[in-house]
Formats: sequence, structure tokens, C-alpha cells
Amino acid sequence: MYAWPAPELPVLPGQGASPRVYDSAAGDLVTTAPGPVARLYVCGITPYDATHMGHAATYVAFDLLQRVWRDAGHRVHYVQNVTDVDDPLLERAARDGEDWTELAVRETTLFREDMTALRVLPPDHYIGVVEAIDRIVPLVVDLKEKGAAYDVDGDIYFSVASDPRFGAVSGLSPDDMLKLSAERGGDPERPGKKNPLDPLLWRAARDGEPSWPSPLGPGRPGWHIECVAIAVDHLGMAFDVQGGGSDLVFPHHEMGASHAQVATGEAPYAKAYVHAGMVGLDGEKMSKSRGNLVFVSALRRAGVEPMAMRLALLAHHYRSDWEWTDDVLTAAQDRLDRWRAAVSRPDGPPADALLAALRERLADDLDAPGALAAMDAWAATQSTGGGTDAGAPGVASRAVDALLGVAL
Ligand code: ZN
Repeated sequence: MYAWPAPELPVLPGQGASPRVYDSAAGDLVTTAPGPVARLYVCGITPYDATHMGHAATYVAFDLLQRVWRDAGHRVHYVQNVTDVDDPLLERAARDGEDWTELAVRETTLFREDMTALRVLPPDHYIGVVEAIDRIVPLVVDLKEKGAAYDVDGDIYFSVASDPRFGAVSGLSPDDMLKLSAERGGDPERPGKKNPLDPLLWRAARDGEPSWPSPLGPGRPGWHIECVAIAVDHLGMAFDVQGGGSDLVFPHHEMGASHAQVATGEAPYAKAYVHAGMVGLDGEKMSKSRGNLVFVSALRRAGVEPMAMRLALLAHHYRSDWEWTDDVLTAAQDRLDRWRAAVSRPDGPPADALLAALRERLADDLDAPGALAAMDAWAATQSTGGGTDAGAPGVASRAVDALLGVAL
């Protein structure tokens, strides 16, 4: 489906380096080494509610990765899904007496508007699960034929025992896996499964639920297999980065890796699994189930500048868990004002060192707070009238636009 319009990406002098990022599977920083084309998959939204700051933080984090890769001379092949049929969406639609497809379309539209406002570079392929059913079904059939999937009362489950690498993404103990499986959409208590952790691949049709015909009987896909079908179809195996929020490490990315590795007989699924931290409010993780959400669209309607929101997100390292507060936003608006004033003054201190510092900070595990500090320092010197370089304000402005996505 259509993603959203791409913001202009200014061309900068010189070139940056391929970034190091933290790979959850390695438990360490790894230097990304894409070929000419860097391949990125980031898990998309389930469109049953508006985009909150936690989502925005995740998509801005991987937007930085894309910007840094591009600045390092790579093209980027970026794929994102929309989980436009799943339990939470169907439950919300039923609760509100709304057609589930209308709910999905409305919230996906709002997400596009939020991403556009935040100047997030769009994926090359933005794929709804509904439009990928014909890719998902053969994958489930294949897993069944390989003996890696089995039937429980018509529902098809994946056997985690079929992947010798199972557990390598999260590195979690079986007890922790069980706990997270129960919390994050799994059904470890269901009788008849070979292993309580085994995830659903295909859910047989139920009364009142949408379903699609398949050789497995009518039904709809499980959560993890949808991303695998879309990612493998568009990116192949061993793509550079699988991204998402840290709540996707297990089970979603662990299961996805296993599905793909068993189905293709190749490994790894992704070269690195990179995860963004959680944004909290009032001491709790921001989540739909807790109802403590700050929505991008609500702030936009209240007149908050999207670039201030973006700077508020960038003021926190992508891997850290942090709290959204009014002060965070106020500080971001102040910073935006200072930067704008600085690039609006004629002349300035040379921006070569600033550009080098931005590149150096971002290549080091996407250190956005460090990059912001570098621009702060340049802007502070500029505002005191330091420097005579007529080209400097323009270079600084284009650098924060291209590398940080902040248009001044
Ligand atoms: Zn996913």
C-alpha cells in the first residue's frame, strides 16, 4: 500500500561512516556492513489506535539509521508492515461497533500523517498483512510439510523445537520466555501444544472473524509469520537490520527468526536485531493496555510543532527507556528556537567540524543526544557572533536536516 511522501534529503559535502548499532542477539555493538544497498525491516503498527510517542520514538530511531546509512553512501531498501488484521484490531472494532477494515484504514491514515509531520523517511514497501495473505499461506504450508508445524483443533502452530537456533535472538531463559509469551500475545496455557511457547501460524476461522481460504482451511495468519513472509519476499534472508521496539525482542523477533530459518534452511534471518527503548509516562511504560498515551496527532492538533516533537525524541538515546514529560517538550521547543535563530544569522563559525561531529556521534550507535549537543555548541558560538564563514549557517541547517531529520 501507499506509505507516505518522502521529505527532501539535502546533499552534504563528504561522506559519513556505516554506523555501529547494538545487536540484541550479539548482546554487543556491531558495525553494520551493508553492501551498496542496506536492507532494513521495521515492524509496523497494528492500526487500532493513534500513534503514541513510544511508536514515534521507534520509527524516528530507525529513520536515523536510514539517514546515516544514506550519508555513508548506501542506498536503503526499507520494508515495513501494517498488522491490519489481528486480535487487538478486531477486539477494538467489536468494542466500538465499527467495521475492522474502516478502523484499520482510518488509523493507518493517521499514522501516515504523523510520520509525514515528523519527517520520517517512508519505507520503499509498505505492506498490509491483508495484501500479503497469498505470500503467508505458502509459507505456513511449507513449514507444515517440513514437519515444523502442527495442528491443534484446526489451528496451526509452529514447533520451536524445529529451529536449533531458537533462543539466539533474545538469549532469554525458558522461564522468562514463558512469562513474556503470556504477556505478549502468546497462549502458553493452551492444551495440546508440543511446547507452551509454540506460536500460532494460522488461526482457523471463528464465527464473526474475517478469514481467508487456504489449503490449511479458512483462517487468518498469526502475528510473527506475517512479518517473515513480507520481509523474506522483499529483502531475502540475512538482511542487515530487523528493527522494532524492545518489547518485540521476544516473542516476535525470536519467533520470526525461527520461522524464516526453518522455512528457508538458511541463517541468519537478520544480521542484527536492533531495538528501541520504551517511552513511559508517570512511571509506567506508555502502552495501549495502560491507557497512558501521549499521541502525536493530539499534540499536532494542540499546535505543537512536529519538529519540536522530533527534537524531544532525539534528546534521548534510542536504546534508553525514558519518561515523556511537559519539560521534555518545552526543552525541545527552546532548542528548536535557538537553532533557528542561529542559522538565521549571517556568517558563523565554520560548520565543517560540526558536520564531522554529527557524523561521528551518529555512527556511534546513533548517539542523537551527542549530535544535539554538537549542534547546541555550534549554535551557542554562532549566537554570540562568533565566526565569519558566510556558508556556515547553510551547511549547519542542511546537516541537521539530512542527518537528524530536523528542518529548521
Ligand atoms: Zn514484525
